[in-house]
Amino acid sequence: MAPITDCLKSKSFYWGAEQQESFQLVKDALTTAPVLILSSFDKLFTVDTDASAIGVGAVLSQTCRPVAFFSEKLCPARQKWAAYEQELYAIVRALKQWESYLLHQEFVLCSDNKALQHINTQKNVNRMHVRWLLFLQRFSFTIKHKPGIENKAADALSRKAILLNKLQTDLMGLEHLKDLYAGDDDFSKIWTHCLDTTQFEDYSIMHGFLFKQNLLCIPQSSWRQHLIREVHGGGLAAHLGKDKTLQQLQAKFFWPRLRRDTFRIVDSCPVCQIYKGGAQNTGLYMPLPVPDSIWEDLSMDFVLGLPRTRKGNDSIMVVVDRFSKMGHFISCKKTSNALHIANLFFTEIVRLRTWLTEKHHLGSRRQILKPFLA
Ligand SMILES: [Zn+2]
Repeated sequence: MAPITDCLKSKSFYWGAEQQESFQLVKDALTTAPVLILSSFDKLFTVDTDASAIGVGAVLSQTCRPVAFFSEKLCPARQKWAAYEQELYAIVRALKQWESYLLHQEFVLCSDNKALQHINTQKNVNRMHVRWLLFLQRFSFTIKHKPGIENKAADALSRKAILLNKLQTDLMGLEHLKDLYAGDDDFSKIWTHCLDTTQFEDYSIMHGFLFKQNLLCIPQSSWRQHLIREVHGGGLAAHLGKDKTLQQLQAKFFWPRLRRDTFRIVDSCPVCQIYKGGAQNTGLYMPLPVPDSIWEDLSMDFVLGLPRTRKGNDSIMVVVDRFSKMGHFISCKKTSNALHIANLFFTEIVRLRTWLTEKHHLGSRRQILKPFLA
């Protein structure tokens, strides 16, 4: 299209062989154009981009059929850019164009990956490149090299690289994971497949780590527990509930039975048990079950702050049988601890009720002691 659009700009209208040829090409392209298909969000999108000295172009496709085309003529300033910059610009423009299709899901990007590789090896990137990189990092894509072009892992722009970078600074010794994949029960088979073919189903290897899509695979090791604890209660984590902790883990990591492991560890977290046990008392008040015989169900309370006796007692422990309403009043001290009160209970109450030793022989002592020791 470029020769024809030039006609519109220059003051004099010139139609030469070049324009005619271009016009013919556009005509052919339109009449024989592959019919566009409607996009389906259940299927994988593929973006092909290309750049030449005069313009950039891109195709959004699904199942090898085009969904949309995009092209843009490069202005004279952009025509002077290096080839890798033009390639990158093509990608940025294409993704900008189809942002609404691509932002929420992973897609395949077919491009000259040298462009992406080049910008990653630059020590000083200019502000424009930084803007581009930041923009690209919002997307999740897998780069597929174009046939005939040397394929080197240039997916350093992807979320995997960002995740790895972040984890390596946050977690000490992450490197050791690499040695565990080969002998791991969960991942060893996938690992060998990936070593042969670089990509196996959803799995791929990057910088020696196994990924499932954008999630880092964690082999069977203490790392799993460590990561759960770290996400749940380590550092600045706020001991979030099971579901929130799981959500955070699932955004970064993958291993089979991740849910089960997370729930198990969060359920047994001592901090949560101490500080969040109160949540169990939020129900409505319920009447106590009605006892059906005497001295089976006792209630106990204290009357505190009475004048001190000669023996130093200043309180009364009141024990009432809930069936007969018979009460026992035992003098005690306000400062008595649980052990004292338990002893008092045994010497003053259990002593009177001999059937306790017969009927509730084993375990009764523990049951009685329980409220004191709780
Ligand atoms: Zn916790």
